[in-house]
Amino acid sequence: MPPIITRLRGNTYRRRVLKEGSPRKRRAMEPRASIAVIGGTGFYKFVDDVTEVKVDTPFGAPSDLIAIGKVAGKPVAFLPRHGRNHQFPPHMVNYRANLWALKNLGVERVLGPCAAGSLQPEAKPGDFVICDQFVDRTTGRKDTFFDGPRAVHISSADPYCPEMRAVAIKTAQSLGLSFHPDGTMVIIQGPRFSTRAESKWFSSMGWKVINMTGYPEVILARELGMCYLNVSLITDYDVGLEGREDIKPVTQEEVIKVFAENTEKLKTLIKGVIEALPEKRSCPCEEDLRKAIP
Ligand SMILES: [Zn+2]
Repeated sequence: MPPIITRLRGNTYRRRVLKEGSPRKRRAMEPRASIAVIGGTGFYKFVDDVTEVKVDTPFGAPSDLIAIGKVAGKPVAFLPRHGRNHQFPPHMVNYRANLWALKNLGVERVLGPCAAGSLQPEAKPGDFVICDQFVDRTTGRKDTFFDGPRAVHISSADPYCPEMRAVAIKTAQSLGLSFHPDGTMVIIQGPRFSTRAESKWFSSMGWKVINMTGYPEVILARELGMCYLNVSLITDYDVGLEGREDIKPVTQEEVIKVFAENTEKLKTLIKGVIEALPEKRSCPCEEDLRKAIP
């Protein structure tokens, strides 16, 4: 049977293959999820037994089909940020399409785990950092849904959802993981890694982790009134550590190797957070958007 295209709000269309049922029944059967996970490098699959949904958006196609399954009885949407074959490098990811598509599936909370480099000796490979701030060093990325005529200035003072961060910290503690409850992430444009001079500057500022995908995902989520949580899995020490000749500058090979060694730990943490999240949100994230709209 050919795919069925269903009209959604605005200009968004969702397409999926359904084998039976009336149009009304089919609509009722359309999978929805209020929680989403955007998997980064090395994280292409989350749960088994999923329904894959194709979503088109006014901004183009998201990175991949969106897989909807269940974690602790809760419907969860999963989207691999770079595509399942890692075909979209960090600067080419269609962040707007990804977030828009999730919003249209009913998502209210987004978990954005990622592989990241460490800029401070205490954040070691295999550790988790639950970031509370970011510094944007990217350039030219489409980082807003509000290109006019309406001007919307979303607050970024505390970009990550305080409620989700608190749940993540508690979950990491109860799982006995080696983690850091806060830290600033600097997001570089990529795809190249940092020079020694850049990395020295970032470290000297006290920033803790470095990554290429942490922006604009978080801000786009906020512009749609969704909560966003970052969990960074440290895979390397960027260009190395001062006075440690044995630690070599990061390579893509090393990132993938360390991430693979820690994938299960990350998935356990993510599942634990999803399970522990309260049913209803009691954070200011949605209200922040209302305040930003004139
Ligand atoms: Zn929130």
